[in-house]
Amino acid sequence: MDIQRFEALVVGAGIGGATAAAHLAPTRRTALLEAEESAGYHTTGRSAAIWILNYGTADAQLLTAASGDFFRRPPPGFSETPLMAPRPVVHLAPPDQVPALEALMARGEGIEPITPEAVREMAPALRPGYAVAAAIERNAFDMDVAALHAGFLRQVKACGGVLALRQRAGRIWQEAGLWHAETSDGTVFAAPVLVNAAGAWGDEVARMAGVAPLGLQPKRRTALIVDPAPHDVSDWPLLGDVAHSWYARPEARSKLMVSPADETDSDPMDAQPDELDVAIAVDRFEQALDIPVRRVEHRWAGLRTFTPDRSLAIGPSGTPGFFWNCGQGGYGIQTAPAAGRLLALLVNEQDPEGMSDIVPMVDPRRFAKDSA
Ligand SMILES: Cc1cc2nc3c(=O)[nH]c(=O)nc-3n(C[C@H](O)[C@H](O)[C@H](O)COP(=O)(O)OP(=O)(O)OC[C@H]3O[C@@H](n4cnc5c(N)ncnc54)[C@H](O)[C@@H]3O)c2cc1C
Repeated sequence: MDIQRFEALVVGAGIGGATAAAHLAPTRRTALLEAEESAGYHTTGRSAAIWILNYGTADAQLLTAASGDFFRRPPPGFSETPLMAPRPVVHLAPPDQVPALEALMARGEGIEPITPEAVREMAPALRPGYAVAAAIERNAFDMDVAALHAGFLRQVKACGGVLALRQRAGRIWQEAGLWHAETSDGTVFAAPVLVNAAGAWGDEVARMAGVAPLGLQPKRRTALIVDPAPHDVSDWPLLGDVAHSWYARPEARSKLMVSPADETDSDPMDAQPDELDVAIAVDRFEQALDIPVRRVEHRWAGLRTFTPDRSLAIGPSGTPGFFWNCGQGGYGIQTAPAAGRLLALLVNEQDPEGMSDIVPMVDPRRFAKDSA
């Protein structure tokens, strides 16, 4: 048996695995195992790529805030291109969503009221009368997901780590204090620490290792690209309703990405869009914006994977040496810099550097009934 020895194994090279490996690699020789031919093939390559401070659960918001400066001022040499570009987010309230808008503004940070008329100055296709009130988050931004992901993967290699593509971990066991993962081609990777960053497959990887699953639920979300010509949408904000039943944001300067913000339970798989969800997206979009959709240029779907309480799962399991970095839901990109840093600090039993209030919120042991 060809056994390759490392000091940490990370299973899954999406953004969750990439940031975990990048933060572990300076202190532990790390192998990052990925089943597919390319590292961002699944959810990481399918996101809407927007950073919104007031989005998601309390732990997600704290990790988002803690990640903000990484995007604004990445470490020297991390990326040749900027990781962010400003993109305000506008929450639109049709008449029945005004109480929800007021609640959002009351609990959110940096959310200001804006009149629907002022929104129409930014996005003239907004139908008069669709929204009776609105709010804006001016500090939101577009993220360059590919540059962030590539930067983490480069860090792994620069520290002597290995990115092993086409290496699905198909058998995982613990022996003599080491985790062993046998991959598709028969190679066995071994290390005292294994980080489960397998996204939608997180519970499957845990079961393989004999660790109690968390009850992760992958949920499909659909996205499509439409041509808004003759509108120049390059400077439009992200627009969506407060109830989060649709949103649209500029894509590649001249197009709009539209989503029905769907959350359909799915098994772990290569998610594909459902035509009904595409039709729902178009209908909700056309109700809000005077842009007839004559053709959907491109469509895709991805799995956003949630823990039972929708908070992330970062840290130890009850089984020695087995760690989780899963349950990133709809906020895995915007939380990635801080999530990976926290994971590495927990693996190395170091002080969580100002993130100690987040640790219990994301502790995977809140669900697990592990054997140890
Ligand atoms: C439409 C859509 C819009 C989104 N918008 C945003 C947004 O605006 N902002 C934001 O922050 N987030 C957003 N998200 C969520 C974000 O994309 C996810 O939270 C994030 O990509 C999850 O990353 P991951 O690494 O956990 O999963 P993945 O990227 O799916 O990576 C998991 C990897 O594990 C691999 N794997 C699984 N099993 C094994 C095995 N046994 N051996 C080896 N490899 C294995 C898989 O092949 C996969 O590559 C969006 C998601 C979708 C679908």
